[in-house]
Amino acid sequence: MAGILVVTGGSRGIGAATVRLAAQAGWDVCVNYLRDQAKAEAAAAGAREHGVRAIAVQGDMAREQDVMRLFAAVDDQLGPVTGLVNNAGTTGPAGKLLDLTAETVESVMAINVVGPFLCSREAARRMARSRGGQGGVIVNVSSRAAALGSPNEFVHYAASKGAVDSLTIGLSKELAPEGIRVNAVNPGLIDTEIHDASGIPGRLDRLVGGVPEGRVGAAEEVAQAVVWLLSERSSYVCGALVPVSGGR
Ligand code: NAP
Repeated sequence: MAGILVVTGGSRGIGAATVRLAAQAGWDVCVNYLRDQAKAEAAAAGAREHGVRAIAVQGDMAREQDVMRLFAAVDDQLGPVTGLVNNAGTTGPAGKLLDLTAETVESVMAINVVGPFLCSREAARRMARSRGGQGGVIVNVSSRAAALGSPNEFVHYAASKGAVDSLTIGLSKELAPEGIRVNAVNPGLIDTEIHDASGIPGRLDRLVGGVPEGRVGAAEEVAQAVVWLLSERSSYVCGALVPVSGGR
């Protein structure tokens, strides 16, 4: 049964595709975004066309006060959250270890790791049976980079997603007795704006030859897996890391 869903970074890319498919499946949705209010409002409006309630809420998921404000807004405007997709993420600037700055590592870890921890905590405080909640489901958007390592360009990013995999495994065991299922998807090369933002134009074209299926993926193909993990159709799937990567 669908419920009340928070999608972090829901304004574009994989997050926006998740908002669309989750609304089709009947979820009320909070679309979080960092900067692009127009796209977030458009994603929320698109969700409402499916007959569900949807709001857009700005907030930097790397900042605890923003996370607290977002979940309070959901309490007030939609009700207690029953689903969370930890999707907001960044690669940070591409580069080799020899040129790496502490600032790059710290900011990538804050967005990709601290954010999912804080959002999961706030969701779990509302979902946990021991706190009077009705259970729920959390899906983390990790990356195949966690296993591949992304040498020469994004080891800092790959390491952050390795942490997301560990977070998924640990919380799946900690929260299952609370009625909360936790899983992750590990996308491969997906056609979104994240690649150009990293500072390497043409990255997808350069790497697509290494994909067994011979093509990059679409955001919607990842969202299909996320929405399945949110649904009762995956009711006995717990602690899974699901590759969505064309075999890469
Ligand atoms: P994208 O197109 O760059 O979109 C990123 C989204 O995250 C945007 O909605 C952005 O908001 C939001 N965001 C960024 N920093 C944020 C912050 N600090 N707080 C709140 N929101 C923030 O990225 P994408 O490719 O869809 O990636 C989504 C997730 O999939 C990420 O976790 C990424 O690591 C993962 N992933 C992507 C790929 C790929 O090939 N694309 C592969 C593996 C994993 P604004 O629009 O307001 O800026």
